[in-house]
Amino acid sequence: MFVIKGSLELYKDPLLDSEKGVGHFFTTRYGGVSGASGELFNVSFGKEKPGESGKVAENIAIAAAAEGIPFERFTAVKQVHGDKIIKVTEEIAGARFGKPELVIEADAMITDIPDTPLLTTHGDCIPVYIYARDRAVAMVHSGWRGTALNISGKTIEALLREYGAEPRELLCAVGPGICGKCFEIDRPVFDILWNEFPYEELFSYDSVKNKYRADLTGMVLRSLVDAGVKPENVSRHAPCTCCEENSGRFFSHRREQGKNEGLMGAAIWLKK
Ligand SMILES: [Zn+2]
Repeated sequence: MFVIKGSLELYKDPLLDSEKGVGHFFTTRYGGVSGASGELFNVSFGKEKPGESGKVAENIAIAAAAEGIPFERFTAVKQVHGDKIIKVTEEIAGARFGKPELVIEADAMITDIPDTPLLTTHGDCIPVYIYARDRAVAMVHSGWRGTALNISGKTIEALLREYGAEPRELLCAVGPGICGKCFEIDRPVFDILWNEFPYEELFSYDSVKNKYRADLTGMVLRSLVDAGVKPENVSRHAPCTCCEENSGRFFSHRREQGKNEGLMGAAIWLKK
C-alpha cells in the first residue's frame, strides 16, 4: 500500500505496518531534491551526479523527518551483491549518514538497537524486511546473485544466533522488486539460479527469444521458508519496480537500461 507523508509517497507492507514495534518504508521516485528537475528521490550515493553531492543525505533527511526518526541514526552499507551480513552495533550505527566516513561493504544488516533504521538501496533487486518481534530487525538487498547465495536465509541464521529469536516468531516482507515476467535472463544465469532453486514454477522459457525468466521473489520466499519462517508470516504484496505501469513511481535498472537517475531506499527499524 502507498501512503503519503509530507512531500513523499512511500510504499508500506500491510503485515509490517500492522505491527506496533517496528517501522519501515520503501521510497518512490519523487518527493526529493535530486536530478536535473530537483524533484527526484534518489537514495544511491553511486547515482549522485557531479555537483549533486549531499543530495542523498538531504533526501534521507526528508524521509527521517516524515517518519520522526533522527537522520543521524540511518545506517547503510556499500552493496556489492555478496552475502556478507553486518551486525550493527553502536559503533556502526549511522554509517554513511551520521558517520559519512564509515563505508562498509555488505548486503545485509541486523540490529537490536531501537530507532536505528537499516537502509538498503534498490532499483529492481529485492528488498527483504525481517522482524523478530520486540527483539531485532534485519534488512537484506537480494539481487539475483545474493538470492543464489541464499543471503536471506543466512541473515535469518545471523539474527537467530545473535539475538536468540525462534524462526516461527519471525515476520518477513518481500518489498518492491523485479517480477517474474520482467526478469529476463540468459542461460548462464539460469544455470546458477536453477542449481539453487530447481523448481519449475519459478522459471519460464521464451522459445521465440531463447530467453529464460526467473521469479526472484518466489526464490526469496523459498529461502525464508527453508530458514524456518512460516509461509503465512511472509508478506508478498509488493508491486514490480520494472513493469511499465509502475514507471511513474519507481526507478528500474532493467526498464531504464542502466540510465536510471536514482535508486529507491528500503528501511526497517525497531521502535523504542
Ligand atoms: Zn514486472
